[in-house]
Amino acid sequence: MSIGQQAVVVGAGMGGLTAARALADHFEHVLVLEGDVLPTDPLDRHGVPQGRHVHALLAGGQRALAELFPGFEDSLSNAGAVRFRVGLDMRVERPGFDPFPQRDLGFDAFAMSRPLVELTVRRRVQELPSINLRQGCRVQELVHRTDRTAVTGVRYIDASGRAESVDADLVIDASGRGMLTLDALAALDRVPPAETTIGVDLAYASAVFAIPDDAPKDWTGVFCFPGIGRASRGSLMLPLEGQRWIATVGGRHGDNPPGDEAGFMEYAKGLRAPTIYNAIKHAKLLGDIARFRFNESVLRHYPRVENFPRGVLPIGDAICRFNPIYGQGMSVASQEAVALARLLATRARERDPLAELAPAYFAEVARIIDTPWAAAAIPDFVHPDTRGERPADFEQTVKFGAALGKLAARDPAVHRLASEVQHLLKPRSVYQDPDLVQRVRALMSGQKEGNQP
Ligand SMILES: Cc1cc2nc3c(=O)[nH]c(=O)nc-3n(C[C@H](O)[C@H](O)[C@H](O)COP(=O)(O)OP(=O)(O)OC[C@H]3O[C@@H](n4cnc5c(N)ncnc54)[C@H](O)[C@@H]3O)c2cc1C
Repeated sequence: MSIGQQAVVVGAGMGGLTAARALADHFEHVLVLEGDVLPTDPLDRHGVPQGRHVHALLAGGQRALAELFPGFEDSLSNAGAVRFRVGLDMRVERPGFDPFPQRDLGFDAFAMSRPLVELTVRRRVQELPSINLRQGCRVQELVHRTDRTAVTGVRYIDASGRAESVDADLVIDASGRGMLTLDALAALDRVPPAETTIGVDLAYASAVFAIPDDAPKDWTGVFCFPGIGRASRGSLMLPLEGQRWIATVGGRHGDNPPGDEAGFMEYAKGLRAPTIYNAIKHAKLLGDIARFRFNESVLRHYPRVENFPRGVLPIGDAICRFNPIYGQGMSVASQEAVALARLLATRARERDPLAELAPAYFAEVARIIDTPWAAAAIPDFVHPDTRGERPADFEQTVKFGAALGKLAARDPAVHRLASEVQHLLKPRSVYQDPDLVQRVRALMSGQKEGNQP
């Protein structure tokens, strides 16, 4: 049953494309307005500058995409993405574990460039007849009712520079920055959402290499964590489609990677463990080196906004920009789209399905964000120069996490559980299991862990 005539989605990034899919079953027409002209090949584009850096798709995001687009894993595989076994094929180098035990944790993930995953989703979206994706269209503002109760459409500049406007029963702000929603709230006299920020002052540099014939066979990708204390230099190297590696290196608070080849290599040589440098030192660099600055993670507390107007919902980075080193943003955006799809399906038979949609959606979003936000915040705050308010139980949580890591190294079942939480397949509340808590506490207090091999 149709909920409305027309929905408009602003932005054709990961949040916008997945939201369009969620809306397609419930609106006669879904219009996606994207500021960029979109490439037909998996190439970088202006509106997604982060797309030149490593983009891990977590298994939780992959499953969300498969729920929205049945057979999505096959679409990814056919497009050239590299399937790998989580735990077994990734070499994870953490202080005290060089490497962390490599073992089969029972699930696969895919590695590919950000442009490829986005293009794969876009192709699936463009197969749907009710979705119309218009490129080169930059949305200027959201339009609202004169009584200030609801958003009713958008104004935009089309590809030929003409000013246009379009009506919508529902507008999804998937513009990444989310300023359209904030501006609309101001225009509608609403108090803007409070924000929690974590100042990480991260600097990234990424280089793509041809995988050499003599590349190591005991891993597909490498995640090198920084040392402890003020050390912040880390790296993630993953395969890309087309027999390539992407190596992203980064540091915090002034340990910035250079953008020239010699400087990049020297920086990579300074990583805590030598695996990545040894792999790339004789590999052929393809193209130039891209850099990115990420100053702070931002979580906008939309559930706390009183009397949120009807007719508009933000998604993805417009709600929460995560520190990218944990690879969560695309997966969270996809999970939010799944939540939206489910909510629309349950509300479709109500007399007015869009009434009170916002509080229900924001409650789901808060639930989705809880685990990835905490998973990033705790290690971020371990660095002494990180800005922001540390949680009240911070010291205890850090100790618990360290002991949990030790237990995971010894016990494959705990390793699997921790990976499922990290991949957003399970919520962090699974760590409250009494047996697990008892085992972790035993390690924290220095007792011998009963189950240890
Ligand atoms: C350096 C870096 C590395 C990252 N690595 C990872 C990773 O490993 N794994 C991961 O999951 N996430 C990663 N992320 C996060 C991820 O890129 C984002 O979370 C994700 O893209 C969010 O999707 P989105 O749709 O909200 O925004 P985006 O994907 O950024 O899309 C926004 C879209 O809106 C368009 N747009 C903007 N304004 C307008 C307008 N006014 N009118 C029309 N169109 C407009 C833009 O052109 C763009 O297409 C990383 C981020 C950064 C910065």
